[in-house]
Amino acid sequence: MNTNEIISLDQQYIMPTYGRLPIAPKSGKNATMVDADGKTFIDFTSGIGVNSLGYCDENWIKAITAQLNSIQHMCNYYYCENAGKVAEQLIKLSGMAQVFFGNSGAEANEGAIKLARKYSYDKYGAGRATIVSLESSFHGRTITTLAATGQDVFHQYFYPFTEGFKYVPANDFSALEAACTSDVCAIIAEPIQGEGGVNVLEDGYVQKLRKYCDEHDILLIFDEVQTGIGRTGKFFAHEYFGIKPDIMTLAKGLGGGLPIGVFIGGEKVKDCLGAGMHGTTFGSNPVVCAGALEVIARVSKPESLDEINKKGEYFRTKLLEAAPAKLIGIRGKGMMIGVQTNANPKDILHICADNGLLVLTAGKDVVRLLPPLTISYEEIDAGLAILIDALK
Ligand SMILES: *Cc1c(COP(=O)(O)O)cnc(C)c1O
Repeated sequence: MNTNEIISLDQQYIMPTYGRLPIAPKSGKNATMVDADGKTFIDFTSGIGVNSLGYCDENWIKAITAQLNSIQHMCNYYYCENAGKVAEQLIKLSGMAQVFFGNSGAEANEGAIKLARKYSYDKYGAGRATIVSLESSFHGRTITTLAATGQDVFHQYFYPFTEGFKYVPANDFSALEAACTSDVCAIIAEPIQGEGGVNVLEDGYVQKLRKYCDEHDILLIFDEVQTGIGRTGKFFAHEYFGIKPDIMTLAKGLGGGLPIGVFIGGEKVKDCLGAGMHGTTFGSNPVVCAGALEVIARVSKPESLDEINKKGEYFRTKLLEAAPAKLIGIRGKGMMIGVQTNANPKDILHICADNGLLVLTAGKDVVRLLPPLTISYEEIDAGLAILIDALK
């Protein structure tokens, strides 16, 4: 099928919930994608930070096909070796205590919210279940994670939303303190807000948050669905702040392109969710976990993280050197890059796509780049030339 045929098929049978671009990706290698009409694109999106190792990484394919050739799925009444190994790695890397496996970022955050409320219920009884979230955050599309999302545009149509969420401006500690009434059990935040505009939380704020949570036995939930797994140049973005959350969620980049979402609990919430209290059919899938094992092994190496930081710096330096007129500044860390523009970022996105470069947007004024962590310098140069041109 060519692109037009694929588009008509989609428009006939699929709910129109996405404002899609007229592009149908067909094959790819690392950060280079070829669409159904044979047009080549440089990909600075990795499918919203999902394809950590780029398209069709050989070792990743080997790992998942080996698993596919033995068992593709088992239910959670049995034990899965690959899930155990992924959990072991995540615990070693995070210094936390236990992992739960689900399938998406929203599902991971749902679980994190359940875990936080259960902890508080066990210790303080009913009525201490409110969760404070930050403005401009994004936590998912289920009814509860929409409620957790601190953006009014998401709080429409689907009433009633899950109760028990409050929103405060990011980096405003007094607003947070004022919001933390006796009914609050947790605070949820992205260390770097992704969809909200690649906004890095301020250093002093995060440490104050951590201290305040400890003093009041409020759980700190970090949504690292977008920032986790090397994206920011540290394996977890919270490492930049020298603190640990009580609960952390991961998803996008963890599977390298297969659906996975986890929430991880620290010592404080260990064994808090017992048998029958949470579950999911597809969670801890052995094929997905085989892919995740390969991603973790590759990305967690110190030389890989160094490389991610170097490439991130390269992006920044090249963009700032070129200084196109519509570039205002650059935010983010590692290869989570927010290119702030005085143009409409959607216009920039369309110009780039027309010229063979895939980018994302975030917030009102940001062109967001989440390239595969394995992107080559040749691919970066080719893509940057198009982006700089679009920003002129
Ligand atoms: C993408 C994202 C989610 C939602 O993940 P899904 O897999 O789409 O459910 C939640 N939180 C953050 C920070 C995200 O970037």
